[in-house]
This record gives sequence, structure tokens and C-alpha cells, in this order.
Amino acid sequence: MNDTGSVPSAPAPVAPLPVDRLVDGFGRIHTDLRVSVTDRCTLRCTYCMPLDATFKPREDLLTFDEFVRVVAVAAGLGVRSVRVTGGEPLLRRGLPDLIARLVAVPGIEEVALTTNGLLLPSLAGPLREAGLHRLNVSLDALDDEAFRRIARADGLDRVLAGLEAATAAGFTGIRVNAVSVRGITEAQVVPLARYCRRAGFHLRFIEFMPLDAESAWSGAQVLTGHEVRQILEGEFGPLEPAPGTDPGQPAVDWRFADGSLIGFIDPVSHPFCDRCDRLRLTADGQFRNCLFSTSEWDARALLRSGADDLDARLASLLLDCTAAKRAAHGIGEPGFERPVRAMYQIGG
Ligand code: SAM
Ligand code: SF4
Repeated sequence: MNDTGSVPSAPAPVAPLPVDRLVDGFGRIHTDLRVSVTDRCTLRCTYCMPLDATFKPREDLLTFDEFVRVVAVAAGLGVRSVRVTGGEPLLRRGLPDLIARLVAVPGIEEVALTTNGLLLPSLAGPLREAGLHRLNVSLDALDDEAFRRIARADGLDRVLAGLEAATAAGFTGIRVNAVSVRGITEAQVVPLARYCRRAGFHLRFIEFMPLDAESAWSGAQVLTGHEVRQILEGEFGPLEPAPGTDPGQPAVDWRFADGSLIGFIDPVSHPFCDRCDRLRLTADGQFRNCLFSTSEWDARALLRSGADDLDARLASLLLDCTAAKRAAHGIGEPGFERPVRAMYQIGG
């Protein structure tokens, strides 16, 4: 255990494997690429973005053609799912067109989107028509004041309307992600669980990670998944681990007595680095091998270099990025270094 109560979870090094797949030095095979399409946002969540955020100039962001090219190369190296995120991805103009193009990339089996939901009332239909497979909506509070305290903007009504619009558009298996911050979100746990159970959404609580722009994170602010479960059990009775949780997913599902499920993503108290299958592409075209990576691999420079062997060079860059992946994020351990970029600049 370290001082945040986390249980180190690091895989043991293994002998190198063939390099036509995205395998790191610990034998982890990477099949999931998180693609951030913008660093801009309609909210200013305390755990993610500063109030006075500045953004990359638009010309620094990858174009849709560039995103599709990178995803096609990644698919050739075994990536099967793409998660579109941001900033707030729905702010990127024409996003449904990009989704449709990503869905059509040979080898890509699932395209998912993580959004704060504010723009879903108008975009849920077009996203569904574009073929988006999965929708994750972030919602930490069901009370206006708590929502405003966390998001530092209004918008709860629009998020709820967005969730309704997504359901009406035909999305099923919608996930609702709620970040847990000690002293702020405890009172939201039970109302969120009630709301999601009634609406049929899969609620997942996420522990607060040191990726806030204002560097205010401390281990003491992490309301752990275990503590959230205790709050839920106080209201709904015992929860039990759900059998058959997908080992590739960071979320561990628990089950209420009526069989409905609730998920916990506990990167701080129970790191899942040993089964991490994710790589990332920032909106400005940098590959990262971890949220907590302190290095980046510049795909944008390559994309704009005019190289004729561009796909081979992109593949080689992504392989290098993967090979350099560390065993674990090391939050709370001696020598842990926060990444320079905050969550909204990386893509959660
Ligand atoms: N704007 C979109 C949204 O909020 O869903 C997508 C981007 S946001 C960075 C992706 C996810 O990261 C959200 O679920 C958000 O709550 C989560 N997140 C942001 N900062 C976090 C932090 N410091 N610790 C844990 N989760 C965080
Ligand atoms: Fe925006 Fe999402 Fe970050 Fe909140 S978590 S500030 S909604 S990017």
C-alpha cells in the first residue's frame, strides 16, 4: 500500500514479442485508442480544467483526414476500438462525419464517445445515424448547486435532456460516469444510483486522479470506490461483485440485490495498469502511452512532413510509443511525476 491507500499493480517484464502488434515490454497488447478531438469545453470541471483555460490554435489540431489516417494505421496494428473524447468532443464541428468515417475504418469494431452531454439534445440523432456504437455521458451530480460547484457552469438540465435525447435516438447500454471527490460528491451517490437504475443507464464511479489543471489533487481528496460502495450499501443493502466482468475493462461491476449493475473505476486505490490496453492520441496529434505519460510521440509533425512512407512511419512511431510504456502510473509512490498536461489537454 502507498500513502493514497493504493495497491501497486504492475506487470512483470516479459521477453519481447513480434512487433506487428502494439505489445509493450510487459506483454500488454493494445487494442484501444483514445482519440481527443478538441481541448475546448463548455464546462470547467474543477478536477480537469482551469477557469482561465487557454486552448491550442485550431491549426494545431488534427484534421478529420489526419485522425482517420492515424486510426487506419492503428487498426493495422491491432487496434479494434476507438474512443472519441476531449475536451468536449461535441464542440468539434461536424463530429458525426468523423464518427461515420471512423466506423468505416477496416478493422475498427467499436467507436465510442465520451461527452459531458450538454450538446446531445441536438447531436444524439446525427451521432446515432453516423453509426456511433457506444455513448458514455459524464454526470457527477443531480443537484443544480453541486453540479455548478463541480462544473463551474450551469447545464444540469441540458445534460439530463441530452440523456433523454440519446435514449430516444436509440442508444442502448448508455454509461454514466461520475467522478468521486471527497467532501463534494458524497451526497450525489445515492441520487445518481437511483436515477441511473430507473433510467436503465450503467453508472460507474471514477476515482479522482491527479490530472486537474490547478494541481489541487491530494490523496486525501480521493473518495475511493470502496467508500462509495459503503454509501450505496447504507441505502440499498449489500452489493456483491458481479461475475463475468470484462477483464479488459478498467471498471469492475458490482451487483445490487435486484441484479442491476454498478461499476467502479478505481485507478488510485486499485490500479489496473497490469491489464491496460489503451493508447492515446491528443487533439494536437501527440501519441501518449498513458494518461500519466511524461513523454509524447509527435504524429502531427509526421503527418505534415510530406513523407511518402507516411503510414509505415506512423506505425513505427506508435510502436515506439507503445514499447516505452511504463509498468504502472505510480500515483502516490515516491518519484511520481504529474504530467505537464491536464486531463482536458490529454483526453480522458
Ligand atoms: N468532456 C467530456 C466529458 O466530460 O465526458 C470528455 C472528456 S473528459 C476529460 C473524460 C472523462 O474524464 C470524464 O468522465 C471526466 O469526468 C473524467 N475526468 C476528468 N478529469 C478527471 C480526473 N482528474 N480524475 C478522474 N476523472 C476525470
Ligand atoms: Fe470539460 Fe469533460 Fe473536463 Fe469537465 S471533464 S471540464 S466536461 S473536458
